[in-house]
Amino acid sequence: MIPYASLHNHTNFADGKHSPDEMVEAAYRAGFACFGISEHATMDHAPEDGLKVRDMGLYESIMRDLQAQYKGKMDVAVGIEQDIFGRPIDRDYDYIIGSVHFVKKDGKFLCIDRMPELFDSHVQNHFGGDVYAMVEEYFATVARVHAETGCHIIGHFDLITKFNENGIRFDVNHPRVQAAANRALDRLIPTGAIFEINTGAITRGYRKSPYPDESFLRVLNERGAKIILSADAHHKDWVPLHFDLAAQHAKHCGYKTVMTWKDGAFVEVEL
Ligand SMILES: [Zn+2]
Ligand SMILES: [Zn+2]
Repeated sequence: MIPYASLHNHTNFADGKHSPDEMVEAAYRAGFACFGISEHATMDHAPEDGLKVRDMGLYESIMRDLQAQYKGKMDVAVGIEQDIFGRPIDRDYDYIIGSVHFVKKDGKFLCIDRMPELFDSHVQNHFGGDVYAMVEEYFATVARVHAETGCHIIGHFDLITKFNENGIRFDVNHPRVQAAANRALDRLIPTGAIFEINTGAITRGYRKSPYPDESFLRVLNERGAKIILSADAHHKDWVPLHFDLAAQHAKHCGYKTVMTWKDGAFVEVEL
C-alpha cells in the first residue's frame, strides 16, 4: 500500500499514452491509496498539448464513473493541470494544479520544457543569449500562477531546470536565479497552496532528482509550505515510478509530513 496520493498524471485525452481506465487500474495494482488524473486544460496557444474543448465533458464523465467504480477500494480524484496561459476553467474539478510551461515574450508563447534545443533557441532568439533573463521571466510568471489559476497545487515549481542537470545551462545558485525564485516563493507560500515534488523529469532521463531543487525545497520547508508527491505519469508503467525517491528527497530536505487526498479533501500524513 502506498499511503500517499498521486494526483499529477495524464492520459490520451492530451499528451499521455493510455486511457483514464488504464491509468487508474495501474495505480490500483501499484497499491495507491489515492490516484488522480490532472489532464492538461485546453491551451489555445498549444492546442495539441491540452484537452480538446469537445472532450471536456467526456473526460469529466469518464473520471466521475471511475471515481464511483473504485469507491471503497481507492480514492479517485478528478483534476486538471491548468497552464497559466490556458483557457479559463469553467468546470468543477476536485483540484487544480497550476503550472507554467511557457514564457510569453515578443508576443509569442515559448515552451520551456519540450526540447533542450528549443530551450536554447528561445534564449538566443528572445533573450539575447542571456539565459538568466529567461529564468527571471519564468519565475516572474510562476509568481502569478496561484492568482491566475486559483490552483490547489503548484506544479513543478522549477520546471525551468528540466534541461539543466549538473548546471549545464545555468547556475541554480546564481543570485539572479535565487532572487527571482524567492520573489515567486514570497507570492506563493502565503497562499497556502501545496507544492508538489515531481519526478517526471527523472523518468524522462533529464534529471536525477525531483523538482523542486534542494535549495528551493529547504526554503519551502523552513517557511512551512505543505508538499505532495507526484509522478507526472504520461504512461501506465510510469505511475508508481520514483515515489520512493520523491519521499527521500522530501525527508532529506527536512519534511516529516506530506499531503494526500482522502474522501474529497486534502489531509496531512506522516512521511
Ligand atoms: Zn506540467
Ligand atoms: Zn503534467
